[in-house]
Amino acid sequence: MRFPRSAALVALLATLTACGSSVKTVDQQGASAEGALVGVTMPTKSSERWIHDGDNIRKALEAQGFRVDLQYAENDIPTQANQLENQITKGAKALIVASIDGTALSSQLQQAAAAKIPVIAYDRLIRNSPAVDYYATFDNFRVGVEQANSLLAGLKARGAGPYSVELFGGSPDDNNAPYFFNGAMSVLQPLIDAGTLVVRSGQRDFGTVAILRWEPATAQRRMEDILTKTYTGSRVDGVLSPYDGLSIGILSALKSNGYGSADRPYPVVTGQDAEVASVKSIIAGEQYSTVQKDTRELAKVAANMAGAALQGRKPEVNNEKDYHNGVKVVPSFLLQPVAVDKDNYRKVLLDSGYYTEGQLK
Ligand code: BGC
Repeated sequence: MRFPRSAALVALLATLTACGSSVKTVDQQGASAEGALVGVTMPTKSSERWIHDGDNIRKALEAQGFRVDLQYAENDIPTQANQLENQITKGAKALIVASIDGTALSSQLQQAAAAKIPVIAYDRLIRNSPAVDYYATFDNFRVGVEQANSLLAGLKARGAGPYSVELFGGSPDDNNAPYFFNGAMSVLQPLIDAGTLVVRSGQRDFGTVAILRWEPATAQRRMEDILTKTYTGSRVDGVLSPYDGLSIGILSALKSNGYGSADRPYPVVTGQDAEVASVKSIIAGEQYSTVQKDTRELAKVAANMAGAALQGRKPEVNNEKDYHNGVKVVPSFLLQPVAVDKDNYRKVLLDSGYYTEGQLK
């Protein structure tokens, strides 16, 4: 009689311990983490950075002995939801998710939670769900600060103000986008208030300047509109762009409006991700700057989080206050972004082996 009773007690304690912990591990389920399947979902292959992220995460997970199911959803929300469901069905023991719409995955995440599968939000926070265990990202507010500082440095190098500038924001369904914008505005707003920067279009709030799904063609159209309606007979000196893909669209609009010549240089245009096309554009003197976020490092952080969760260890985090997802603060690891322009691209992108010289030719 005594043995079964104590066995029941042990089982009860184990259940209580598992319930009290926010992370579910394979070990708690009695299986081994070795060779476990990890599901990785990325938003799209249309932007180079996510291809690097996916490849780097796969490498880092395989190096730890895990199997990897890596999926891209071409920015289609139902496709991403299906991919997550499939991964859960296939028996994934952890999920790493870079969401398209940070609010659209609640029911899949509920399924994951019910199956005790730890979920790591990758780069973009997943919102409105308790079933997000960890978050691996960059300091997103800092990204915006770097973009704004670089915009100002470029403007000052061209002479005294006041300067006319236009503002762009990222996708409104991406939790990162307002962080980038608010970071940038923390630097720019006082100068707008002082009249040093003038947003001639009058379009200054995030809702108005945001570009759904980060679509370069939408940014190009918006820039064309602004140039036609606001800058006939005058010149725009700077454009805050939060992402290299948008910067390319913006530069195309500028080009077809006569910018890019000796008497009408391109305005100072910022960016993000250090994508090859944009770095080449920076070297050619078109785009002014970008912000590099080393995807090799982010992939390692996320893969280590998955590894730790699967082995029943607490993943390493360095921020437990800034990223509230609407339900809870998600323990996060933040990496630091680096501003890149013509002066430092060799040091940041080539000396570090992020790109080879040949890739930038
Ligand atoms: C990422 C950026 C990227 C943007 C568009 C954001 O969530 O943090 O690095 O430029 O999405 O893909």
